[in-house]
Amino acid sequence: MSRSHRLWRALARGREAFGAPATAGLRVLGYHSVGSALPGDPYGLSTPAEAFARQMESIASGRFGSPVSIGRAKLDGSAEIAVSFDDGYADTLTTAAPLLARLSIPFSVCVTPGLLDSGRPHLSWPELKELSLVPGCEIGAHGLTHARLDSLAAGDLARELSESRRRLEDALGGAVAVMTWPHGAASRRTADAARAAGYARAGCSLYGVNGPDRDPLLLKRTEIVSFDDERDFAGKASGTWDWFALRQGDPAAR
Ligand SMILES: [Zn+2]
Repeated sequence: MSRSHRLWRALARGREAFGAPATAGLRVLGYHSVGSALPGDPYGLSTPAEAFARQMESIASGRFGSPVSIGRAKLDGSAEIAVSFDDGYADTLTTAAPLLARLSIPFSVCVTPGLLDSGRPHLSWPELKELSLVPGCEIGAHGLTHARLDSLAAGDLARELSESRRRLEDALGGAVAVMTWPHGAASRRTADAARAAGYARAGCSLYGVNGPDRDPLLLKRTEIVSFDDERDFAGKASGTWDWFALRQGDPAAR
């Protein structure tokens, strides 16, 4: 576990003394892998399967708001919570999806065609199709090559956005209108480009809750990592970790 995780855990636990923040809205949780040992994983990208099961049972209880997918959230200021996965790890299909379906929790999986082309540990294209048919599953894009999209010139940015969407729509035979920003790298410029490319909603990597005024192409998203214990998870889902956003900086201000 990193020193940074310990520091922010201490701040979050201090914040708990004042109760959960009163702000309601859509909170999006961000995961990567579940239940796989990823080689060299300093960021804690793979949440252990048992921890994930406990986390999803607490989501299903409704205590953090109504479970929704990113695309179907009302975004009207009511308490909603979305579970999302980035990168398209194969364990999203084999480990996470069966549990989510059993608990009737909708979820969003945002995948990068270039990573799917590269094989394990990522989903194959037929597996992506299978995943898309799991009840409650929404497939979104996550760039074409996993580049930092905010550092690309306009033409390359437009290509990443539209080509990733086209490849997914061709493979799935349905519309793709949701995405998440690779590396959380976004700005008002990239949000406008995503809007122009036909996306309705996109998640970044900024802790916090989304009210009706939030740009839907720059939705805040709270990352869950393997170091999170049950108290950390409850704190992240209810907002006592939102101070972390101070360190991250808001893409909507860039
Ligand atoms: Zn990613």
